[in-house]
Amino acid sequence: MAKERLDKILANMGYGTRKEVKLLVKQKEVSVNGNIVKDASMHVSPEDDDIFVYGEKLIYKKYIYLMMNKPQGVISATEDYYDKTVIDLIAPEYQIFKPAPVGRLDKDTEGLLLLTNDGDLNHRLLSPKKHVPKKYYAVISGIVTEEDVSKFSKGVVLDDGYKTMPAELKILKSQEESQIEVILYEGKFHQVKRMFEAVGKKVVYLKRIEMGPLKLDENLKLGEYRELTEDELENLF
Ligand code: URA
Repeated sequence: MAKERLDKILANMGYGTRKEVKLLVKQKEVSVNGNIVKDASMHVSPEDDDIFVYGEKLIYKKYIYLMMNKPQGVISATEDYYDKTVIDLIAPEYQIFKPAPVGRLDKDTEGLLLLTNDGDLNHRLLSPKKHVPKKYYAVISGIVTEEDVSKFSKGVVLDDGYKTMPAELKILKSQEESQIEVILYEGKFHQVKRMFEAVGKKVVYLKRIEMGPLKLDENLKLGEYRELTEDELENLF
């Protein structure tokens, strides 16, 4: 990891404002590799240097894994010129890890989004060869029928001529506004919406509820996030 200013690192990790961190340094409460720090703006690597604050070693993780319940209205990207991104929703002490979303949910899609700075995991979950299943809950304008279930199970042809892989469609409620769950084994652009368009219906609400072994934590309100548990991480690897 690249070197960064010590006061920035400590401030991001919750040791106070930069001013407060400077005071800590002045009080000789911070050491790096055994030397009391004199200049709070010195550049250090939280991974490679031994940083102590109040005599306690700073535990710095290389990787961060966050599960977010993405709300509508934010973009699944690290930056955007016009709109708020999912990164804007997370606290500075996590932003310092420079996490990125694993795959994308549309601006108006809610639900499970994994954020990590672990490029390998990102690749593994998104690799088209891996066919990691993604499960969505959706509200559809129109009556979803068993015929649609059958069409989805064979794959449908999208507007650009691409024939999708088989998808598992389950009808929860079949009315003027139907409720369904669908499991996809690939991730084409706007895929759920386009698959329903292919059978003449419109998605009016979309939420991802599972991705591989990960299930959206029901306790997370929209916009909230938490670190993955040990169990969740083990299942991912
Ligand atoms: N399919 C969509 O159409 N949109 C999403 O955000 C995810 C899957």
